[in-house]
Amino acid sequence: MKSIVLHAALDLRIEDQTVETPGPGQVQVKVAAGGICGSDLHYYTHGGIGAAIRVREPLVLGHEVSGHITVLGEGVTGLTLGQLVAISPSRPCYTCKYCRQAHYNHCLNMRFYGSAMPFPHSQGAFQQILVAEAAQCVPADGLTAGEAAMAEPLAVCLHAVSRAGPLLGKSVLVTGCGPIGVLCILAARRAGADLIVATDLGAFTLAMARQAGADVVINMADNAEALMVYSTDKGSFDVLFECSGAAAAVLAAIPVLKPGATILQLGLGGDMTLPVQVITAKELILKGSFRFHEEFASGVSLMQKGLIDVKPLITHTFALDQAVKAFQTAGDRTQAMKAQISFQPT
Ligand SMILES: [Zn+2]
Ligand SMILES: [Zn+2]
Repeated sequence: MKSIVLHAALDLRIEDQTVETPGPGQVQVKVAAGGICGSDLHYYTHGGIGAAIRVREPLVLGHEVSGHITVLGEGVTGLTLGQLVAISPSRPCYTCKYCRQAHYNHCLNMRFYGSAMPFPHSQGAFQQILVAEAAQCVPADGLTAGEAAMAEPLAVCLHAVSRAGPLLGKSVLVTGCGPIGVLCILAARRAGADLIVATDLGAFTLAMARQAGADVVINMADNAEALMVYSTDKGSFDVLFECSGAAAAVLAAIPVLKPGATILQLGLGGDMTLPVQVITAKELILKGSFRFHEEFASGVSLMQKGLIDVKPLITHTFALDQAVKAFQTAGDRTQAMKAQISFQPT
């Protein structure tokens, strides 16, 4: 069985690994689709994320996967052989002080797939055959494998929306229209947002934002003044979903936020300098948003009901032996939104 292993920046290899058998409470899954995430791209391009998180040993990448159940371990109920499941990459310990408060995304012993945050690293899910806890698997009947593999980034955005508070009738600004930005548009609309304006620097991503339902899209590279019409009377937006990780995006957004507005920071691009004086005077609320927990199953359910359609976001699917090309393409925001890898021969 083959897996995608990163040894160092730009050193991605397809390697043979032994197949494990599932223990009690576990299942074996034949992985079908795997989406390449911004964090996978950071590991691939830079060998880490920022200065703190570095790849220090070979790391199987990937955390956005779906597949079909091939073996049920002892005691597993509620899943069937052959069933398509979305696999949550989140494996909290359920016993630490944050897990006991149901803050699973802050688990002290988190083993999140494909993460170089802990050492030894938490190995990823870009493998043809994966052994997972049954509790990680959400039945995804009726979805395509590609859609099911979108449950993870969708859950990130549903978590941010839930942290934003009620959005019914609210005006929302989304900065950065990669997959997370576009999924935030879909999630905010589903939560009842009225006006949704999206900004980015590229025509392709803005067209995707528009297709996802943004009312207005603004290219900040050549039309930044179009955003400033929203700055009258101290601003127009109740909530900002900041998905670019770029300080310039936050700086441009602050004048168009209403007093008391909430900034949801999702973008991770290293530290930034912020205008604390204006944030204070406008009484803005700055909130981080990190990963998810129960939103993973909600995301699958919303897709199954046809209430959120992620299919247009999947712009590319590559065969496993094309993994390097897949990573190169995934980072090209002039043509790719979500690039996925197909793990089984078709
Ligand atoms: Zn992801
Ligand atoms: Zn825990």
